[in-house]
Amino acid sequence: MDLSTKIDKPTRLPGSLLQKQPSQTNVAKLLSKYAAPNPTIPKKTMAGKSAAVKLAVEPPAPPPLAKSNSNGPPSPARGSTRLGIETGRYDGGLETDNEKRGSIVSGQAAEDLALDSSASRVRPTREWNLNSFDMGRPLGKGKFGRVYMVRTKCEPKYTLALKCLYKSEIVEHKVEKQIRREIEIQQNLRHPNILRLYGYFHDEKRIFLMLEFAGKGELYKQLSKHGCFSERRSSRYVDQMADALNYLHSKHVIHRDIKPENLLLGINGELKIGDFGWSVHAPSNRRTTLCGTLDYLPPEMVLGKEHSEKVDYWALGVLAYEFLCGVPPFEDLSGHTATYKRIAKVDLKIPSKVSSEARDLIQKLLQFDPERRLPLPDVRRHPWVVKHRIKESSRVNST
Ligand code: AMP
Repeated sequence: MDLSTKIDKPTRLPGSLLQKQPSQTNVAKLLSKYAAPNPTIPKKTMAGKSAAVKLAVEPPAPPPLAKSNSNGPPSPARGSTRLGIETGRYDGGLETDNEKRGSIVSGQAAEDLALDSSASRVRPTREWNLNSFDMGRPLGKGKFGRVYMVRTKCEPKYTLALKCLYKSEIVEHKVEKQIRREIEIQQNLRHPNILRLYGYFHDEKRIFLMLEFAGKGELYKQLSKHGCFSERRSSRYVDQMADALNYLHSKHVIHRDIKPENLLLGINGELKIGDFGWSVHAPSNRRTTLCGTLDYLPPEMVLGKEHSEKVDYWALGVLAYEFLCGVPPFEDLSGHTATYKRIAKVDLKIPSKVSSEARDLIQKLLQFDPERRLPLPDVRRHPWVVKHRIKESSRVNST
């Protein structure tokens, strides 16, 4: 059965670690109140002159704030720590881009994309605009715009990642609804391994997302650099992922697009799920319009059957394998159809270098029958995960 026409995300190329695949919209990325203190580093101003050390990093969990006309920052979470990190020099990219890129949208699309967290019914934040921030260095470019490191001008000064999305490009790609859903889902999530979305605002042409700053960048890059991860590192990521996914499922959200490209690393190297482009509110037992990177699709999606949150269990098994082996388990260099077939047959071959405990966990997650996949709390209790987990008592000395 050739399902390739239904795939609206590209599959990864063989040797995929060498090349990042575009994430579907990849809208939301953020900071967490669990981020640990950063060492203070003298800050440079936009003009490059050194300035006073500023406190940053804290991802303030903005409590529901009454709509206000001030541009003040979200209130800091209790017990939060804000230490200085350098935001770097701004390159003027937002203005340059804005002159050449995008156009003003009108009609229903304009209404759909008039996104402003101060007007949110669930968790209104204060009003924000571009002038609320001192701009810092570029963090990266996404499909719909650039991402910058910024700091709020108001005290207490928070460091964030500010992501710009061009409305007309969103409309061109017909992803208005997906972006809205992604933002709605992400702004309500609070977990140390899920990137926070603090707020958002818009102007005529752009939407801006105030995201938690993921200090150690993309996990994908680390995996490319190292080829694969040690058992210990892989196990810790799997532990954090299982915890985050369990939290998501408890909120009736299915992620559906777990893969290294959608994961960021916090300042202490902790994993952060940073992309909710394909997530849905469960139950989502509708028939699949295939989404997600091909290599991470479970059999039920490949076979066009209904699916549940158990798709994320499968993806966690694929992820564990890829961390340890450097390639996803069902990758087939001869093309999509071959990969589908391998997934549908659960044609799993685990290299002998993988420990028997890790092998056991992967096999328990990569079960054809979704109901037979190891539940996430059991993943966290699995001997391979427990063995490598940092004990609270030794956390201080661990890297
Ligand atoms: P995206 O559009 O989400 O793919 O973002 C483009 C690039 O910006 C990513 O590949 C990251 O390198 C960087 N980036 C995005 N969000 C963040 C964030 N919250 N913290 C740090 N870097 C980010």
